Amino acid sequence: MTAAILPRAVYRARQRIRPWIRSTPLVASPALSAGSGGEVHLKLEHLQATGSFKLRGAANAILALSEDQRRKGVVGVSTGNHGRGLAHAAAQAGVGCTIYMSALVPANKVEAIRALGAEVRIVGRSQDDAQVEVDRLVAEEGKVMLPPFDHPDIIAGQGTLGLEILEALPAVETVLVPLSGGGLIAGIALVLKAADPAIRVIGVSMERGAAMIACQRAGRPVSVEELPTLADALGGGIGMDNRYTFRMVRDLVDDFVTVTEAEIAAAVRHAYWSEHQVVEGSGSVGIAALLAGKVRDAGVTLALVSGGNIDTKLHKRIIDGEDVDVLAEREGEAPIRAAD
Ligand SMILES: *Cc1c(COP(=O)(O)O)cnc(C)c1O
Repeated sequence: MTAAILPRAVYRARQRIRPWIRSTPLVASPALSAGSGGEVHLKLEHLQATGSFKLRGAANAILALSEDQRRKGVVGVSTGNHGRGLAHAAAQAGVGCTIYMSALVPANKVEAIRALGAEVRIVGRSQDDAQVEVDRLVAEEGKVMLPPFDHPDIIAGQGTLGLEILEALPAVETVLVPLSGGGLIAGIALVLKAADPAIRVIGVSMERGAAMIACQRAGRPVSVEELPTLADALGGGIGMDNRYTFRMVRDLVDDFVTVTEAEIAAAVRHAYWSEHQVVEGSGSVGIAALLAGKVRDAGVTLALVSGGNIDTKLHKRIIDGEDVDVLAEREGEAPIRAAD
């Protein structure tokens, strides 16, 4: 039995990471409010340093390390937002950081992580090959592996978003949170449900490969096929040996919604043309659910915009209105996507 994570852990996280992160703007969206008949607000977390909320959890986990662990350094497996967050936080803390990637990852993603000061090691042809190498490093060199979501300090760090939401919008009634492995929604729901159990917390995933939702329906972690999607940071499974997020999502999340590729593309377009924000597919799924009319009677509603790291060329094609199924297939050509 793993110990429960308490709201207090989120307050401790906030104190630790306060100098390291931006508290991001929370703004009203007249355009989305008009469409939904409610009152819609957006939390612009894609404006976080490194372009996503993953920095919060990574910073909290790194600052919680012992002196000995700091000397030995941290390691992670990621091509995407988790890798960026870890690399950035480690560099700021003066802690060594090694990020593992497969040989198939495109050079620009490797460079993005290297530019943040991490050592990038290329191993094997799959994420699994990389994991074997990470396990070796942890066993032999005593480095600390930091996973993208299923870790108490990561969850507590993401939970600081819950505190910011409550402070900026205490009347909030419904919160839409992009959902993959569930670290983000678990941390946020922990805070919101402690403040008022009547606040509705809704997880939003893409239809193509919504792993956590499939696991919740099955009542246990199950493996789900990963499919090409514009919401690439929401891809990947929750881990068969999931320790925290499966249960927290089961106990704290009220509802789940899925959105199609066309709805995600429409949301990226809406974010650009109506909100003047450059948002990645994964970051836009809450907006997508609202635009598609999939969330009803939501009252004072907050959609969390979780990330903005989108390939510029892909973004341009989306806002130009290119056919999205084709785009998702092309995105899917990248052999390993940012499954974190
Ligand atoms: C990682 C990520 C998510 C999902 O977070 P989980 O904790 O895995 O549920 C959502 N949006 C973006 C932009 C992400 O990078």
